[in-house]
Amino acid sequence: MAGQMGLSGTLGNELMNLQKTQIVQWIKELAVVFKANRDLLTQLDAEIGDADHGLNMNRGFDKVVEKLPTFEDKCLGTILKSTGMTLLSSVGGASGPLYGTFFMKMAVPLNGKEEATPAELLKALEEGVNGIVSRGKTNSGDKTMCDTWWPTLTAIKSAINQGHSLSETMGLAAHTAEEAAAATIPMQAKKGRASYLGERSIGHQDPGATSSMLMVKTLYSIIAE
Ligand code: ADP
Ligand code: MG
Repeated sequence: MAGQMGLSGTLGNELMNLQKTQIVQWIKELAVVFKANRDLLTQLDAEIGDADHGLNMNRGFDKVVEKLPTFEDKCLGTILKSTGMTLLSSVGGASGPLYGTFFMKMAVPLNGKEEATPAELLKALEEGVNGIVSRGKTNSGDKTMCDTWWPTLTAIKSAINQGHSLSETMGLAAHTAEEAAAATIPMQAKKGRASYLGERSIGHQDPGATSSMLMVKTLYSIIAE
């Protein structure tokens, strides 16, 4: 009886909390997703930037997956920190340092942990996004990756407060991220290369907002499995 209760407790945790295996799977799947979406992201960047965002994300996550065997058995914090450091050193442009910082800051609250509660995941994502902001000095509506993250974080917070499961929460997050990325289309870019275009940046979806949306959707697809 006690054994059965123990087992159901474990199964319950696996449903409620984000597991280390899922973070590793997320990173592996991001390499696949950024390869599949390389041309789309590069095309978006061709419209308002220098046509390298897809190449950057593809190269960065290929490198992370190459190094993953050296750190995938470590704690969540180490996995995320190593991911960030790899992106920082292998991706040029604005997105390398920004996504590098995102993963390195996300790692801090998850240091030493093997799994994360939804609240811990939210905290980690918030730290990651705050890292992007402190590096990139972005404001809401500047047409950047943060315009995907801010509404997504708000959606995650309110889903958790309403008592939704991790899977439901990330489903809502994925839906919000999709809408948020699309909402960058009418924005005028105020940061990064796209800002050089002034009003001509209006009418195009931001490449970084799109890659961030893919990160959220990919995490959901793994949690929903
Ligand atoms: P680069 O602009 O150097 O060629 P990428 O093309 O890889 O780098 O990335 C461009 C994306 O980076 C933009 O679409 C935008 O979302 C994001 N970005 C640029 N500058 C900033 C910033 N200061 N803060 C947040 N995100 C930014
Ligand atoms: Mg670019």
